[in-house]
Amino acid sequence: MSMTPVHVVGGGLAGSEATWQLAQAGVPVVLHEMRPVRGTDAHHTDQLAELVCSNSFRADDWTGNAVGLLHAEMRKLGSIIMACGDAHQVPAGGALAVDREGFSRAVTERLQAHPLVTIAREEIAGLPPQDWDSVILATGPLTSPALADAILKLTGEDQLSFFDAIAPIVHFESIDMDVAWRQSRYDKEGPGGDAAAYINCPMDQAQYEAFIDALLSSPKSEFKDWEHVPYFDGCLPIEVMAERGRETLRHGPMKPVGLTNAHRPEDKPYAVVQLRQDNALGTLWNMVGFQTKLKHGAQTEVFRMIPGLEKAVFARLGGLHRNTFINSPRLLDDTLRLKAQPRLRFAGQVTGVEGYVESAAVGLLAGRFAAAERLGRAAVPPPATTAMGGLIGHITGGHLEGGKGSFQPMNINYGLIPPIAPPKRDEEGLRLGAKEKTRIKKRLVGERALADIDAWLAGARALAAE
Ligand SMILES: Cc1cc2nc3c(=O)[nH]c(=O)nc-3n(C[C@H](O)[C@H](O)[C@H](O)COP(=O)(O)OP(=O)(O)OC[C@H]3O[C@@H](n4cnc5c(N)ncnc54)[C@H](O)[C@@H]3O)c2cc1C
Repeated sequence: MSMTPVHVVGGGLAGSEATWQLAQAGVPVVLHEMRPVRGTDAHHTDQLAELVCSNSFRADDWTGNAVGLLHAEMRKLGSIIMACGDAHQVPAGGALAVDREGFSRAVTERLQAHPLVTIAREEIAGLPPQDWDSVILATGPLTSPALADAILKLTGEDQLSFFDAIAPIVHFESIDMDVAWRQSRYDKEGPGGDAAAYINCPMDQAQYEAFIDALLSSPKSEFKDWEHVPYFDGCLPIEVMAERGRETLRHGPMKPVGLTNAHRPEDKPYAVVQLRQDNALGTLWNMVGFQTKLKHGAQTEVFRMIPGLEKAVFARLGGLHRNTFINSPRLLDDTLRLKAQPRLRFAGQVTGVEGYVESAAVGLLAGRFAAAERLGRAAVPPPATTAMGGLIGHITGGHLEGGKGSFQPMNINYGLIPPIAPPKRDEEGLRLGAKEKTRIKKRLVGERALADIDAWLAGARALAAE
C-alpha cells in the first residue's frame, strides 16, 4: 500500500530542505509553492529556494563561527541547501557565497527530479484541509495574507507578529560587571523570586547628553517601500523617542528610578540602561526597550558608549522589519508541532529564526521529524550542545518570556549553545590571553557539537534499522 504524502507549504529555503529530507527518508511529499501564480514583495523568480537579498551564507569556518558550525552540521545531515550552495559557490574569502541563479536552479531541478516529490504551484489560502494529516508550514517572513489570517485565528492574536522589533542582545561575558550591577527596579521580586533580575548600566548627565547626540546624528536604515512598518507607542525605536525630546528616554526605557549603583551607592545615576536575561543558559542579555533602526555599524559604536558595555560583543543587533513569525516558545512542542493541532508543523523564518541558513536548518529538522513520525519512529530533537539544538532551544524552549511580544527572531550564535570553559594555560604552562581563550572555546564547542551530531545521526540510523 502506498504511503500517504506529507504536505509542505512554501518552497523557500526551509520548505525545499524539509521536502528533500522527507523524500530522502523514503516519504512521499507534495510541495505547495505559490510562485509564480502569486508573488511576494521580495521574490523575483519562480525558482525554489530563491535568495531574496544577499547571496551569502556567511562564515564557513566551523572552528570559529557559529553559522560555520551550522553549515558543518547540515552537511553531515545531507542538506540539499548546503550541497547546492557548495556546488555553486563564488569566491568570498572565509564566507560561503553562492551564484544565486545557479543555486536556486540546482535546488529546483533536484527536487523536481526526485521520484517521491510532487511540486504543486498553488497558494494555500487558509488552513490546510483536515485530511492532510501531516503538514509543514514553511511560508516565511512574507507568508501570504490569507494563510497568515488563518494562522492568526487558530493561534490567537497575541501569538503571530507581522513585524519584528528587535533590541540588541549582548553576550554576558562581555559586560563589565565592575561598572554594571544586578538589581530589579525597587528590588521587586519576580515570579522566580529574584530581586536582582536585571543588569544595570549607569550614566551621568554628560554621558547621557553625549549618548543622545550620537543617537540623533547616527545613520538610520530606510524601510523598503512595501514594508510600511507602523510604529506602535509601546515599541518605538530609541532614536525616534530621542527625536521627540532629549529627556524622553530618561523618562522611558532609561529611567533611573528605583535603582542604586552597587559600586558607588552615593552617586545617583542620571539615566540607566537595563539588560534582561534572554535565554535559560544566562549567556545572552537583551537591552530593554532598545529596538532601533540605526545602521548596524552605528549601533556597535553608539551602544559601546554605554558604561559597562564598552567591550560589548553583540549576539544580535537591533532592527525593525516586516516579518511574519509565531510565538514559537508558547505554541510549538520540541519537534516543531503546533500543540493545538499537532498535524501542523512550522519551519523556517516563521518559527522565529533569522537568516537563510538558520531557516534551512529548521526546515531540515522539521523534515526529519515529520519523516520519523510517518515511518512510525520516535522524532528525537538534536542535542542542546549542537548549533541545531541551539536553534530548536531558542524557538521552542530556551527563550525566557519577558512580557508580551518579547520573543524575537535570532540568528545562530554561540550564546545559544552551552559554553565550555577553556584551559587557563597553554601546553607550555603559559597563561592564555582573552583572545586565545575565546578562540579555543569556540573550537572546543565546535568539536563537541560535531561529535554529538554524529551520535544523534547514529541513533536515528539505529532506530531506522530496528
Ligand atoms: C526583504 C528581505 C531581505 C532579506 N535578506 C536576507 C539576507 O540578505 N540574508 C539572509 O540570510 N536572510 C535574509 N532575509 C531573511 C530571509 O527571508 C530568510 O532568511 C529566508 O528566506 C527564510 O526562509 P523561509 O524558507 O523561511 O522563507 P522563504 O525563503 O521566504 O520561503 C517561503 C516561501 O513560501 C511561499 N509562500 C508564502 N505563502 C504561501 C502560501 N500561502 N502558499 C504557498 N506558498 C507560500 C513563498 O512564495 C516563498 O517561496 C531577508 C528577508 C526579507 C523579507
